[in-house]
Amino acid sequence: MSEPIVPGDKAQPDAENAGEDLCPQCNGTGRYKDEECKNCGGSGKVFVPVGTP
Ligand SMILES: [Zn+2]
Repeated sequence: MSEPIVPGDKAQPDAENAGEDLCPQCNGTGRYKDEECKNCGGSGKVFVPVGTP
């Protein structure tokens, strides 16, 4: 039970209110400190809600 928490990746990629953004943790490289970036799961991108108050 060590499911990685991925902040900013809760929105569906194809959702209207979701926007793609570079992962601020790894700057889109998908790597952080020579390991897979846990913020984006190694994709280098995060999906963030857009237009939500
Ligand atoms: Zn990342």
